[in-house]
Amino acid sequence: MKKVRTVCGDIAPERLGTTMIHEHVAINLSPVTAGSRTFFPQIKDEQLTLENRNLKFLQSGAWSMAPEVMDTSGDDYLKFIVNELKEYKAVGGEALCECSVYGILGRPYEDLVRASEESGVNIVYGVGMYRDSVRPAKFQGKSEDEIKTLFEADIDNGFEETGIKPGFLKATFSGLADGRLPFPGEMDVFRAVARISAERGMPMMVHLEVPPLSGDQILGFAELAIALGADPKKVLFCHAQSLVTSPDGRPEMIADVIKSHQPRFSIEPHQRLLDLGINISFDSFGNQAVQPFELGGANVVSEYLELSAVYELLKLGYEGQIMLGHDFCCKLSAKAYGGYGYTRVPTFVCDMLGQLGFADAAHRMITTNPAEFLAF
Ligand SMILES: [Zn+2]
Repeated sequence: MKKVRTVCGDIAPERLGTTMIHEHVAINLSPVTAGSRTFFPQIKDEQLTLENRNLKFLQSGAWSMAPEVMDTSGDDYLKFIVNELKEYKAVGGEALCECSVYGILGRPYEDLVRASEESGVNIVYGVGMYRDSVRPAKFQGKSEDEIKTLFEADIDNGFEETGIKPGFLKATFSGLADGRLPFPGEMDVFRAVARISAERGMPMMVHLEVPPLSGDQILGFAELAIALGADPKKVLFCHAQSLVTSPDGRPEMIADVIKSHQPRFSIEPHQRLLDLGINISFDSFGNQAVQPFELGGANVVSEYLELSAVYELLKLGYEGQIMLGHDFCCKLSAKAYGGYGYTRVPTFVCDMLGQLGFADAAHRMITTNPAEFLAF
């Protein structure tokens, strides 16, 4: 009998219910964003606090430089996140995937169990690695086989021997070394993850960054996962919204206003991935912390373009291979600070898709699809 493995134990897939496929309950992004401060020496510390007058400024991208916004320490944080999970539950939410893998862990694993118990929301935690640049000491200098063994120990005995077991695998492609090939360490993790998925039928997720990755490179990674034996149904490529527009930054969009007014909207890269039989997720809905990213170079598309891409793919019949989420990444994503928290998909996104004639497909993308993908 297949099960979905939550931090509180195994449950039957049909008990999972409404599930956001890519979220963070407690993520520590500070090792990743620490360097960004040096690009903006004119920004003063007092501009990076959570006082209300600064919210808009922080939401424009400054969140990534504000330690207070990303601080997940202390009992207050646990209370805060339980409240966010309760807000999610109030709009029908029942489960989510916690994607804060090695390199970006925000809390001890036991706290995820507490958050789940106190909120009544099931949490499925992933084992895997974020970018090479934040790889913890335990994994440094390790080969593909050694990484695979370390991940398997977590799967069999629980994370760090806690008995709290992961429910999916995750690999990350953060970019290209020499502008050409993926970072060797990230490729090792990807191959280890794909091999475990192949051997155990365990679901695997892949984090993408576009740019610098292109649709062709991503298709190559998907083909490699399948070549390594992974069942395409157990493979999910995240952050598909970043493939909706061509990989140009803000300066290019401003410099070429005519082209910008005819958005270079494309679902072709998505179709090519979906035609391999794999899954993709659109997972930045309502995320005010990362949308219009004025201060950074990231190419984050607007929520309306993201929704348009989902709609176009539904019209083509791909409803069985798409999942949704918010990628809740810091306090500014939260209801408590004027954001949508984990509520934008169950409310606005499902309502819009319903008005477009896809109510059943919307329901399927947040219930049946995650349950089938996560069951192993
Ligand atoms: Zn994420």
